[in-house]
Amino acid sequence: MCGIVGYVGRAEAAPILLDGLRRLEYRGYDSAGVAIVDGDHVETRKCAGRIAGLSKLMAEHPAPGTYGISHTRWATHGKPTDQNAHPHFDESGKLALVHNGVIENYQQIKDALLQEGPHHFTSETDTEVLAHLVGKIYDDSAVGVVDPRRHKALLVEALRTALQQVIGTYGIALVHADIPDFIVGARRGSPLVLGVGKDENFLASDVSAIVAHTRDAVYLNDFDLVAVERDKFEISSLAGERGSHAISKVEFTAEDIKKGDYPHYMLKEIFEQPGSVRDAMRGRLSVEECTAKLGGLNMTPAQLRDVGRVVLTGCGTALHAGMVGEYLIEQLAHIPVEVEYASEFRHRNTPMTTDTLVFAISQSGETADTLGALRESKRKGHRTLGICNNVASTIARESDGGVYMHAGPEIGVAATKSFTSQVVILTLIGLLLGRMRHLSTAEGSSIIAALESLPEKIEQILKMSDQIKEVAKKYVKATGMLFFGRQFNFPIALEAALKLKEITYLYAEGHPSAELKHGVIALVKPELPSVFIAPDDAVFSKNMNNIEQVRARKGPIIAVTTASGAAKLKGIADDIITVPDADDIVMPVLTVIPLQLFAYHLAVALGRDVDKPRNLAKSVTVE
Ligand code: GLU
Repeated sequence: MCGIVGYVGRAEAAPILLDGLRRLEYRGYDSAGVAIVDGDHVETRKCAGRIAGLSKLMAEHPAPGTYGISHTRWATHGKPTDQNAHPHFDESGKLALVHNGVIENYQQIKDALLQEGPHHFTSETDTEVLAHLVGKIYDDSAVGVVDPRRHKALLVEALRTALQQVIGTYGIALVHADIPDFIVGARRGSPLVLGVGKDENFLASDVSAIVAHTRDAVYLNDFDLVAVERDKFEISSLAGERGSHAISKVEFTAEDIKKGDYPHYMLKEIFEQPGSVRDAMRGRLSVEECTAKLGGLNMTPAQLRDVGRVVLTGCGTALHAGMVGEYLIEQLAHIPVEVEYASEFRHRNTPMTTDTLVFAISQSGETADTLGALRESKRKGHRTLGICNNVASTIARESDGGVYMHAGPEIGVAATKSFTSQVVILTLIGLLLGRMRHLSTAEGSSIIAALESLPEKIEQILKMSDQIKEVAKKYVKATGMLFFGRQFNFPIALEAALKLKEITYLYAEGHPSAELKHGVIALVKPELPSVFIAPDDAVFSKNMNNIEQVRARKGPIIAVTTASGAAKLKGIADDIITVPDADDIVMPVLTVIPLQLFAYHLAVALGRDVDKPRNLAKSVTVE
């Protein structure tokens, strides 16, 4: 899940590439590097660690030139070292290549190259093998060719021939020292977008890297190759056919991806939730018909009426949103719902009825496992819909329809606002399907009222940030944490545990409250606090039993509850965080927010790198 940026124009490439990489650092931060062509040689700078390290290196050893490529890495093959940092070179040292993805058959290609002639590999990466393969094919074909235009065509052809041998995924950008002002890109499975400027063009894994320079973008499709020059570009397919693509306007501006006054993107995004939740329902509620309107599903009422089963698939936080969705849709629409890990769904060959509707949930819309699940579901002939934030993403384009989150860019690696948007959208889906079945107008209206009250209630919770910070600070010595919830709030226990793991590195587990006594209780001790998500709802008294069971074993207790629950928990829980009262259906959108803040404040108190937690990357575009 690396990030790639390429530039060809008249400005100095280095600051544009570095700035673009900073915007893509959420995709990986194991190492970073650039290759900039200066005259007839490629200058490269690369090092293990963050973009800040590469910036420093480049300040000490500048690399002049007006075109080049760059990369921020999330290692899949080979340790995060200087040697394994991209760009990688071919045998001639003239071709430099950056790559996002995995070349699955790199060992076979490497063995074949080594048999054919001398190849000196300096890294452990799959990527370097691809650089050698493209370079070799190009060198063999360019012997005796003097026309510079032919060199460009031969380089594109060399990449095409090489990629036809590749099994795996890639977003690629490459330059060659002998071919001035020319970059070649290609994609399969990993995103790549072309930014179209005036007398300058860009390549990037994500538009956020280039939106400061242009808002005109061409989203490449799988199996596209693109030859990019200052004033033109040409797209062709892996099979060699010429392609044409529309230029789209990027929805957001450079301003939208700034941190503003917030110390971290994660905190900014937590605080954006009143707006992002509002945007997830904007124009989608019909007060008159007491239902939701989701035209993007591209389904007629009759088709929606015929849905007999729903599968929700995703990974990580999106999977947890799906689990809330399972409770919601089953409750509202009485349709059986299954939540599937995207990575398992595509391989385990789950039996599917013909009336199954599949939703692929992914903030980025590029999650490789979720995309795999979507393709598998489509291959089997099922209508497959996306719930994505990134409008131009692969999942958004390949699905039969869907619902956009409209949450704005999410940069913090730990997902926050995308979770609440996904849950709101799943509530809308439950409402829509329910109102086509047994749900009455009165019930529909009360759900709409509950949804519409959310932004203001979220504001109230956000005002408690300092209070939650004080609670979090009390637990800096905790060795880990357990999270418990029932019914709609069980998936919140999972999500809260995931947030804590991701950014504090503390050991954390989430469970249905009642599971406590079936094993987990063996872990309870004074150093391991338990967090109960227990609003005063139909299952409150059952949660209370479990809280007492932990208390009897001297486990510290933090409760997230409503006002009446707080009164009952006084003197029992060590710390109480009170959220506003709300309908059970929308409660998970509220209970998760103090737990996002709790994880955030605890991570800051522990000195963790909140926006770039170790070993993680945001959009997971490798399997
Ligand atoms: N396979 C490449 C490497 O390990 C790229 C990894 C990625 O895209 O995450 O360097």
